[in-house]
Amino acid sequence: MTDGPPDAVSPLPDDVASPPRGTVVRPAGPPPETDLARTRRARRINRLLAERYPDAVIELDFTTPLELLVATILSAQSTDVRVNQVTPEVFATYADAAAYAAADRAHLEELIKPTGFFRAKTQSLIGLGQALVERYKGQVPRRMEDLVTLPGVGRKTANVVLGNAFGVPGLPVDTHVLRVTRRLGLTVSDDPVTVEAELCEMVEKREWTMFSHRVIVHGRRTCHARKPACGVCPIADLCPSYGIGETDPEAATRLVKEGPVRPAPNLVGQAGEWRS
Ligand code: SF4
Repeated sequence: MTDGPPDAVSPLPDDVASPPRGTVVRPAGPPPETDLARTRRARRINRLLAERYPDAVIELDFTTPLELLVATILSAQSTDVRVNQVTPEVFATYADAAAYAAADRAHLEELIKPTGFFRAKTQSLIGLGQALVERYKGQVPRRMEDLVTLPGVGRKTANVVLGNAFGVPGLPVDTHVLRVTRRLGLTVSDDPVTVEAELCEMVEKREWTMFSHRVIVHGRRTCHARKPACGVCPIADLCPSYGIGETDPEAATRLVKEGPVRPAPNLVGQAGEWRS
């Protein structure tokens, strides 16, 4: 009789420099998570975030697809609060795509200056208006492949518009989604397009838009870039990064930022029917 099969898997003891010949060694600890287990965990995270942040909703003010497209372009390298401060006058001045196409550059720059990068954004908005007039009869297209051809519009902006203006599932990946989903171990990538594709594989399609909103709100209120409030995190049990932030519940509570309770966007009728 031998002691066991020669290829038995065993952890490497601390005081052994090298394993006996024929022994397969793997590090001690839990096995890697399977794709199925990660998918289940992602869906549980989504459900728990839905309970914790029932008020999660897009924080940009808008009433039409064009307004949302413009607001999202303005939100690059800015905050939603700042964008919401300038858009009432922008929207009142430029009511449709033709108005942006014919905009007075200096005037538009002045209006959007507080959002930063105002020259590049003005260029995008004028180009956007021209492209919509020339190629889409002044209307915002409702397909990803069309949206991403417009000046200033990438996949993130297109997903925001699809999900929130047209009711077409889209999963925008912004800085919060990138940071939080990496901490959660749902991805190891830092490429937004790759992360979007991976998350879309895990999360139910009908949940894509709200999953993104919830993760963004979680990132803004609890899982901050510098001081995550792990001690009061609703998904701590599902997070392999638990402990990188404050774990004491009282101290963690002080780190949490509560957001404003916002009404849902001014939808008219079903998804896709908007005030013109
Ligand atoms: S446990 Fe900490 S790191 Fe993990 S999601 Fe919660 S706040 Fe973020």
